[in-house]
Amino acid sequence: MLQSTLDRTAVLAPNYRPLEVTLVSGDNCWVTDVDGKKYLDCLAGYSALNFGHNNPELNQAVVDQLHKLTLVSRAFDHDQMLPFAKELTELTGTEMMLPMNTGAEAVESAIKAARKWGYEVKGVAPEQANIVVAENSFHGRTTTIVSFSTDADAKNGYGPYTPGFRVVPYGDIEAVKEAIDENTVAALFEPIQGESGVVMPPENFLPDLRELCTENDVLMILDEIQSGLGRTGDTLAQDLYGIRADLTTLGKALGGGVLPVSAVVGRRDVLSVLTPGTHGSTFGGNPLACAVGRAVIKILKEGEVQERAKRLGEILGERLDKIQEDGHLAEVRHRGLWAGIDVEPRLGLTGRQLCERLAERGMLCKDTHGSTIRLAPPLTISEEDLNYAMDILESVLNEQAAEIGIV
Ligand SMILES: *Cc1c(COP(=O)(O)O)cnc(C)c1O
Repeated sequence: MLQSTLDRTAVLAPNYRPLEVTLVSGDNCWVTDVDGKKYLDCLAGYSALNFGHNNPELNQAVVDQLHKLTLVSRAFDHDQMLPFAKELTELTGTEMMLPMNTGAEAVESAIKAARKWGYEVKGVAPEQANIVVAENSFHGRTTTIVSFSTDADAKNGYGPYTPGFRVVPYGDIEAVKEAIDENTVAALFEPIQGESGVVMPPENFLPDLRELCTENDVLMILDEIQSGLGRTGDTLAQDLYGIRADLTTLGKALGGGVLPVSAVVGRRDVLSVLTPGTHGSTFGGNPLACAVGRAVIKILKEGEVQERAKRLGEILGERLDKIQEDGHLAEVRHRGLWAGIDVEPRLGLTGRQLCERLAERGMLCKDTHGSTIRLAPPLTISEEDLNYAMDILESVLNEQAAEIGIV
């Protein structure tokens, strides 16, 4: 339903331009708008809703904890904190965890830990630490993070910028090698670039980066806020390569689509530089967040969701490949239940226009930029619903092709 444009621009900061749908409820992969129209959610809150809307297991965990204890601040311990830490480190094969709230905070925390580790352990000269990062990355919206963004919209107008970052082309191991010097404390990368349109690095990049970081005593930091927790068909995207980063950031799905819950997991000797008073967060690791996080871990521990993502991901890939063969997509990139598709330029359809047409037909997704859209349905989607979504996509693209005379 169309909301009054005036109302919207009058009271709400215009930093988003959402599709014209106003949602009121959700159930697993389906959401309903104010007029009762149903849509298949193929964005899933940018992967925050990996386990679907209104998930009964997660809801139960929230409700149970809600009536017990929700916040103590970090001035006191509570009974959910240590079990959450233990279960999360076990799930991710790591030693230690630092709880935060949003993804950007987890990335900021990893940057802070890496710098402090650099000065105190590696012996980098004061104020000289640098971190190697990638072009077209997305790590959040804080002033420091946008300082090394290569997206003009995300960055421009927010200076002065935080120094200490070296930007290299994504997936270019030689460029990382050249950027590293004695003051390099970390290399921070997304294992798969989500916001950029589900862009995969060359097959050897992450294993090579692991080796390069170890050789040079540089921390490998992988931002798995979007790629982690089942999306790719494995618990973490780095599992696909059998490697472990020194620090990994998690967020989005860690809060089950209920609360912002993020964490840095990784090496004990690195996270141990964060001594009392040197870092913190009022809400980080609150009892409610830990309870939701534990319920998420419980689901992931069974491994079934990851298996589904892998199996349904194959169907997603086959369907998209077929649409590409029909000549309607210029490129298809997919891993697990996660895909970036570039509309064939001849169709003359922007990503935004495509998303609008899909929404009319009852399928919600989001363009990333230009003619690229990302598909990331909840991992709990049924095969039938996934095929239904692909039917809608196929028919919208077929219609556009017919309309402009390409068949
Ligand atoms: C979404 C995202 C973030 C930022 O998370 P917020 O919770 O929005 O701060 C950071 N890194 C990656 C890879 C993301 O996808």
